[in-house]
Amino acid sequence: MDRSFPVGPIRPPSEASSLLLQVTRGCTWNKCRFCVVYRGQGFHVMKPEEIKQNIDNMAYFRDMLVRHAENGMINKESLYRELETLTGPELQCFYMVYNWLLAGGRSVFLQDGDSVALKPEKLADVLTYLREKFPQIERVTTYGRASTLARWSVDQLKLLREAGLDRIHTGFESGSDNVLQMINKGLTSEQQIDAGKKVKAAGMELSVYFMPGIGGRNFTEENAEQTARVVNAIDPDFVRLRTFVLKKESEMYDMKLRGEFTELTDRERLREIRDLISMIERNDVQVVSDHIVNLIGSLNGRIGTDRQKMLEMADLVLNLPEEKFRLYQLARRYGYVENYSQMAAVPGSRMEHFRTVADSYGYGEDSGWEEHINDVLRQYV
Ligand code: SF4
Repeated sequence: MDRSFPVGPIRPPSEASSLLLQVTRGCTWNKCRFCVVYRGQGFHVMKPEEIKQNIDNMAYFRDMLVRHAENGMINKESLYRELETLTGPELQCFYMVYNWLLAGGRSVFLQDGDSVALKPEKLADVLTYLREKFPQIERVTTYGRASTLARWSVDQLKLLREAGLDRIHTGFESGSDNVLQMINKGLTSEQQIDAGKKVKAAGMELSVYFMPGIGGRNFTEENAEQTARVVNAIDPDFVRLRTFVLKKESEMYDMKLRGEFTELTDRERLREIRDLISMIERNDVQVVSDHIVNLIGSLNGRIGTDRQKMLEMADLVLNLPEEKFRLYQLARRYGYVENYSQMAAVPGSRMEHFRTVADSYGYGEDSGWEEHINDVLRQYV
């Protein structure tokens, strides 16, 4: 019997140590103009029996480890003998479970792009089964599109909460209806607010994603303002920053080539982040910058207590003269620093190299510098 289980392509960075359990494949919408994750793939809701079989397979690998443990230590010799009987995909799955347990085995992320498309009654059944098989799990989270979440009642979402779903991650990208329309997000800010309020009323944590720069030059102020309006209406637990990176394979890149979309500079995208933080009125909202695409990596904090600190951190970078700004961009984009105060720790030889690269572009308007930075960023998405 095949003991492997499928794994989808994406998860939030905050779920890096979570076990990935696929309950759907692909995305219900799959038409956002900036997204190429599921390009060419259909959407598929897995049957609860199929998902439970995959949970059984995960438990099988857990039990295999238990069988080969003596006095809290793994008997490597006997374990390796059994591992030799596994196929390649089974072995990969075994190591996923093994590494997850080694990291504590505390969290699970349900994949893929819109897992709440599985009817709440069915998803609750799967969650209950998962929690029974792995009673040590402390947190289960998933992605859900606002338009799908808005379809379910608060009572249906409560079923998910009671069955053990703790947090929903949802990609709002923007709270501006003009931007949502331009990127073909397939939902409105009204649906975002409806979905967000329902998730909160059901007692689950809500993590919403904002894409600074996704509205381009035309909507830069509106992108921050309208996102703040939506955040203030919902009061989510987390606002996660995902600075927009224009992928060359996306429809939005064609829009840029046709002159219908003008990309912001790195500095302008940071300005949007600063504006959003300054306009959030909900004290308990946590701003989280947990991706290398954000120009400041440690721009994290609770609005009520850390807003000023976050604004100062952003202003420090926003006010840099261009030469210093470029050096910071490179140091950040190549992973040497999280924020400007760490620049002194970048090795001198590296800084010299960065200076050579930055100066080689010249400092005129058509220097090509921003495109160079965007090429660096594209490696990360
Ligand atoms: S909803 Fe998410 S996964 Fe689906 S197309 Fe849009 S960005 Fe991509």
